[in-house]
Amino acid sequence: MSLLVIGSVAFDAIDTPFGSTGKIVGGAASYISLATSLLHNQVGLVAVVGEDFDFDFVKTLNQRGVNTDGLQVKEGQKSFFWHGKYHLDMNSRDTITTELNVLGDFDPIIPQSQSAPDFVMLGNLSPQVQLTTIERLAQKPKLVVMDTMNFWMDIALDELKTVIAKVDVLTINDEEARQLSGEYSLRKAARIIQKMGPQTLIIKKGEHGALLFGAEDQVFFCPALPLEEVFDPTGAGDTFAGGFIGYLASKGATDFESMKKAVVYGSAMASFCVEKFGTERLASVTLDELNARLAQFEQMMHIA
Ligand code: AMP
Repeated sequence: MSLLVIGSVAFDAIDTPFGSTGKIVGGAASYISLATSLLHNQVGLVAVVGEDFDFDFVKTLNQRGVNTDGLQVKEGQKSFFWHGKYHLDMNSRDTITTELNVLGDFDPIIPQSQSAPDFVMLGNLSPQVQLTTIERLAQKPKLVVMDTMNFWMDIALDELKTVIAKVDVLTINDEEARQLSGEYSLRKAARIIQKMGPQTLIIKKGEHGALLFGAEDQVFFCPALPLEEVFDPTGAGDTFAGGFIGYLASKGATDFESMKKAVVYGSAMASFCVEKFGTERLASVTLDELNARLAQFEQMMHIA
């Protein structure tokens, strides 16, 4: 089953109470691609970077089997840049800077050979570009999963709602679910957001796990693995989404029971992401390590 990933590929700068990075590789689609490529071998990436980008990272993606034919490189332009600062709890953060640069006028050109994917992951990006991507697909995919953030709710709510109406699964965090729905209760928020279009909603709650809401009031909850040290939560949400859709694409499945398992895969994958700054840990994680962590989840969630 082919899987198309679109989203930001970027430079980030990250401040945590324990340290800061200079410019390092980040971006929603970077994390998603790394996560999906551990589970699936038919992943294509559509994204844009400037000529300042770190092209060793692109080599890493290629080595892991990600097809980067759809990665545009804009000469004379700068890559998207995001600077975030975490609070002491490491669960909340402020955006210090968002420089769209090449993302400002990104035209998502999907290579002909990838224009009819079975699964699509619309990573965090302007809703306009997410919409254009859907419109350019040669046929309706089996499943479209979309991630977004409060930044787009603040500046492009109408466009965002137009895309949300066209996807099968939306993933957002608890704060964003409350902002989008105007409801504090996540159960009520989920019902309102599902009425906007997506049959399935995933609400990510950082170190407190993730909630999966399906059609007909189905609910599933997966905790996050309690880690002794969280080094850098950046990209955990994207990594979660990558693990989620990577699992489903590898099975060719879209039913609720498979989605429950996919949420556990997403959570296990995200637990690696936070162990080091940026994409470093995710780029080195092996299938054996992932399987060991999945076993920990099974133990943690099992009731005799
Ligand atoms: P997460 O921690 O999963 O929410 O994702 C963090 C990643 O999102 C960072 O690597 C950023 O480069 C990327 N990011 C932040 N803001 C935006 C935005 N407005 N559009 C697209 N990507 C973004």
